[in-house]
Amino acid sequence: QDTVERTDVAIVGAGPAGLWAMFEAGVIGLDCVTIDALDRAGGQCTELYPDKPIYDIPAVPRCSAQELVDRLLEQCAPFGFPIYLGERAETLARSGERWRLTTSAGRTIDAAAVLIAAGNGAFVPQRVALPEAERFEGNGLHYAVREAERFKGRRVLIAGGGDSALDWALALRGVAAHVTLLHRRVAYRAAPATANAVMAAHAAGQIDLVTGTLEALHESHGALRGARVKTLDGVRELEFDDLIALFGLVPDLGPLANWDVDARAGRIPVDACRYETALPGVFAIGDIALYDNKQKLILSAFHESSLALRKAFAYARPDTQRTHVHSSYDSALKQKLETG
Ligand code: FAD
Repeated sequence: QDTVERTDVAIVGAGPAGLWAMFEAGVIGLDCVTIDALDRAGGQCTELYPDKPIYDIPAVPRCSAQELVDRLLEQCAPFGFPIYLGERAETLARSGERWRLTTSAGRTIDAAAVLIAAGNGAFVPQRVALPEAERFEGNGLHYAVREAERFKGRRVLIAGGGDSALDWALALRGVAAHVTLLHRRVAYRAAPATANAVMAAHAAGQIDLVTGTLEALHESHGALRGARVKTLDGVRELEFDDLIALFGLVPDLGPLANWDVDARAGRIPVDACRYETALPGVFAIGDIALYDNKQKLILSAFHESSLALRKAFAYARPDTQRTHVHSSYDSALKQKLETG
């Protein structure tokens, strides 16, 4: 891609802070574009605790984290703002009075203001903690499965004990020549129904189960060919063509650490009135924002989004004095939200 997309506000992160910022941008009449490194919106809510109940959202006595995200998406849908998923924000540079942001997909966004709503950073897969692992990445060692067919007829070792490891063990058993599931403990961290399905597949001879941890990876003719595994009662050698390590995701500030926003230990200092960083027109909201008495709560993320957006308005429309209208009396907003 080599086109430049122009917008009022570029939002980095589609967690609760970024999603509420999209809605608020629409309410005050700004355009926005949101990007998220993950392939779905929702940030920590969707990635870390989708089924857990949340009790401290005002006027919502109880909802699951995924339900909260679904409601936020529904709330901003009438504005039709794009959310680019699976794209990481890479660089930020001044362009006259505006900002240029580039993404890992080659997109360039030209914005009057930037809202960094990046939580703890982009989630990246937790990697195999062996020194030789890195050189096998893309050459036998995988941290995600994009298409099952890629493993057709191959001997696959899946490492991990959560839902995605078990789901892929089940999905690949009819595709791969052989599937082994390796987990460090006997009990899985997956949904009981998934764990039961894996046990049934094991009993039917479709999946081998090994309890243990990876100790060393073996190479043959430049490709990954096997591993030594420390089991509960000794050591075992496993042979395979592909290792799919699904140990979960860990947050990583990644390229944001190089932005000129004075990031400290993964957080970005802001003033607690406008949530603006050291760069004019660049704001940090939600968990990534750092100020005195900051609380990492969804409620705080909502508040910060709303106030940052109102200041961002001044950058996007420097010649317009914004007048505040309550949503209950805003007939243009009513028209937009009720008729789409
Ligand atoms: P996040 O939710 O972390 O979202 C940030 C997004 O930014 C992510 O999707 C990430 O992929 C993306 N991103 C990061 N870097 C980049 C980049 N360079 N390019 C593109 N995208 C990027 N809070 C409550 O109020 N009540 C609760 O009951 C509650 N329970 C919780 C339970 C658990 C187990 C956890 C872990 C947290 C809980 N929280 C709760 C905290 C709450 O989830 C966070 O405060 C909230 O998710 C912060 O929202 P956010 O949008 O700032 O960040």
